[in-house]
Amino acid sequence: MSTHPTRRTFLKIGAGGMAVSVLGFDLQAACAQARTLKIARTTETRSTCPYCSVSCGVIIHTIGDKAKNVTPQVVHVEGDPDHPINRGTLCPKGSSLYHDILNDRRLLKPQVRRPGSDHWEDISWEKAYSEIARHVKKTRDETFVEKDKDGRTVNRCEGIAFTGGCTDTNEFNYLAVKAMRSLGVCYLENQARL
Ligand code: SF4
Repeated sequence: MSTHPTRRTFLKIGAGGMAVSVLGFDLQAACAQARTLKIARTTETRSTCPYCSVSCGVIIHTIGDKAKNVTPQVVHVEGDPDHPINRGTLCPKGSSLYHDILNDRRLLKPQVRRPGSDHWEDISWEKAYSEIARHVKKTRDETFVEKDKDGRTVNRCEGIAFTGGCTDTNEFNYLAVKAMRSLGVCYLENQARL
């Protein structure tokens, strides 16, 4: 029998699937060492997957956190084996978190699409805040209902609706609900984290 690896057995070796390789030495220790080295010097931060309300626990590995003049860099994200919800597992969305964090197409500043325009344009945070505040004030002033048709005091704003995304934290949603209720907004929905 030939001692040369076939393409199939060679791929198995690459995946660390064989205890004793056809190359004649044990690869298991080397594979385990390679896995260890990847996260050997990282800082582990426990967090929660932001994608859905299952709220699986994740461990985010960063490198460079403790060095001066170095920007910390996320190098690995994995399921938290100690988390009671997922016990280390992640679905495909959660498993892609690393690429979500480092995606160069991720939006980092506000954008606006003007009425009639066919494209989005970048605006500053300051401009976004003031434009949103102006629209909210104008809409609330125009649509606020103090009493319903039977004369009962309702103090509600029917012209604004608010929805939160699945990546919003409990704390964000708490503040959003407080802010919207203070305006009288009753069409309000979000996906609070557990
Ligand atoms: S890993 Fe999947 S199931 Fe778990 S919270 Fe994220 S999206 Fe939901």
